[in-house]
Amino acid sequence: MARKQQNQKPDQSLEEFLSRDLARRAHEEADASDGSDEEVETLAGILVHDALTSEQRRALSAPDGAAVVVRVPSPDWADAVAAAMRSHATYSDMQIKLGTSRQDRPEVGCDRVSARLARGGRVCGISQDPERFLPASLVAGADVRLDLAQPTPGQVARAIRAVTGEDPGPMPPLHGLGHHDYVAALRTGSTAAACLARLTAAARSRSVVDPDLPEAPLLHEMPGLEGEARDWCLALADDFQAYLAGRIDFDAISRHAVFCGEPGTGKTLLARSVARTLGVGLIETSVASWFTQTQGYLGDVVREIDRVFSAAAAASPVVLFLDEADGLPSRTRLDNRNRDFWKPIIGQVLLQLDGATSGKNGKIIVIAGTNHAEDLDPALVRPGRLSRVITVRRPSVSGLAEIIRHHLGPDDLPGADLTGVAALGVGATGADAAAWVQAARRTARVAGRPIAVADLMALVAPEDDRTPAEALACARHEIAHACAVEAMGVGTVQTVTTVQSGEVAGLTRTKLTTRLSMTRVQIEDYVVATLCGRAADEEWGEASTGAGGPANSDLGMATRTLAAAHASFGLGGSLLHRASDVDAHRLLATCPDLCQAVSADLDRLYARSRAFVQAHKPTIDGLAHRLVNERLLTGAVIRDRLAEDRTSLTPGRTKGGRRA
Ligand code: ADP
Repeated sequence: MARKQQNQKPDQSLEEFLSRDLARRAHEEADASDGSDEEVETLAGILVHDALTSEQRRALSAPDGAAVVVRVPSPDWADAVAAAMRSHATYSDMQIKLGTSRQDRPEVGCDRVSARLARGGRVCGISQDPERFLPASLVAGADVRLDLAQPTPGQVARAIRAVTGEDPGPMPPLHGLGHHDYVAALRTGSTAAACLARLTAAARSRSVVDPDLPEAPLLHEMPGLEGEARDWCLALADDFQAYLAGRIDFDAISRHAVFCGEPGTGKTLLARSVARTLGVGLIETSVASWFTQTQGYLGDVVREIDRVFSAAAAASPVVLFLDEADGLPSRTRLDNRNRDFWKPIIGQVLLQLDGATSGKNGKIIVIAGTNHAEDLDPALVRPGRLSRVITVRRPSVSGLAEIIRHHLGPDDLPGADLTGVAALGVGATGADAAAWVQAARRTARVAGRPIAVADLMALVAPEDDRTPAEALACARHEIAHACAVEAMGVGTVQTVTTVQSGEVAGLTRTKLTTRLSMTRVQIEDYVVATLCGRAADEEWGEASTGAGGPANSDLGMATRTLAAAHASFGLGGSLLHRASDVDAHRLLATCPDLCQAVSADLDRLYARSRAFVQAHKPTIDGLAHRLVNERLLTGAVIRDRLAEDRTSLTPGRTKGGRRA
């Protein structure tokens, strides 16, 4: 097994040396710990020595046998701790169970343990999670139970003294070191200073604790932090304070979550802000790094996963941020060949995650970041693991203004009103805002003058390179969406803009009316509003590629929604559940009947969209001309105009729907 190959060899050579070396020095000096030299010849030996009470020592040497359970700080300590335990007693059975085998379960091996104990034998079980992996009979009946933590600086100092015979002096904090790091650093024949230098260097290189942490804003200063992300993070910070004050247990803190949001929305920054606010370290890792930091072989990747989680256990309390968590594919979507490769990796992550989220492996706050929560393996987000999915959205106008202000700092544009820039730029991410400020600074520097609001404006809403006709067509498309959304109660329009951003020619930002569940009528209204942009394209000219393309385009969203209505929600005439809502659209490629039904719905609902646009043609056109001039309209402008409209605003519906 990998565990043995990896740990035993270096450990044994150190022990071999130490036993010789300590024998030589035994008469030269007394160990400051006043334990016997044999017991403390390794760091693991020191941990065991310090943990054992005199009563437990007596129980260990009792003639009628003993059940012994040792919890190690992380799996890589297991072999060395086993050796240390053997220096106290002989065992008829020594079981090291780290969850690496299917046999490592509480119900396995109970009879053997009972039989050995009944014969007066001594049985020792070692695990990072005894309740989960050791035979239940051993854990339940333990005469001696040791819960070992990561070594303290004082214990490491004693180990250095044991190896070198020298006092290392004041010890720096050493975070993130695994057992093998100590073995490699505490070299015989070396000086205490050299051992300490190696440990410090190892801690620096091993530590994945983010050096940028001091740069992260505290949560209450975090610009643009809104909605459930804000609520969850602040509640976590409050709970952590209550824990520090001794009012609640660490386990009572709701502390694990997935941050889900588009790239650049600030998920990583938020995880850093959480760590900084809590006053703990942050360990950042990602699925990609497990491959790039190793040769990429299965064993390497599994070991790297263990290393990262061990580092978190060693640095605890700590925030462990697993970025790009969707890099770990969902097993439900893998074909057989890929499943064979990924299964052990996912299994190892789940195993380590259980140790981390249950609190068994230290005080760890696990936050995963992803752009697609729906692509995560269901086991990752099941209750007890990362069940809380927090959406980190693109900021609102005021949030974006705060982010721009944050990146400008207090010296640039002090007191300037940034609302106009933010209103035009809304829809951008925090990363976009940071890039605008950087580029505007460059422009001002090249021009040899201080930065101006106009520099930002030129970036946020660059001169339109479209012809007036193209700009008007885009405005009509967006206004048609906005009017339909408001008129049919699909949601509340926040802003409509024709400012181009990347591939996006214009954008209607809407807060959808939240409902616990949606009826067929409500789903259809949503689809009608979504198709109104294309209906406007046709009304004033002809349909173009503008309504289609990516999955989140108008046609993409309308199709996915209807596919889910049919294949997942039982709202398409059949109660058959054929796929989860997020996967329903995938069936279209293979199910002609579903294709036909969705296509028929699209045609029927598109006819309603056309009717809506025709019925509201003057309103849409008037607002579109205004939008071309002003480049951004708020939802209030749309609502006021619709309120003035005397004509009925609701489109005709097919049977079962509300009628205009
Ligand atoms: P994600 O992890 O969601 O891809 P990041 O946290 O890496 O996004 O954000 C990238 C950069 O964007 C950050 O380093 C920061 O400069 C900027 N940024 C994003 N969100 C914010 C925010 N709310 N406040 C300030 N800057 C932000």
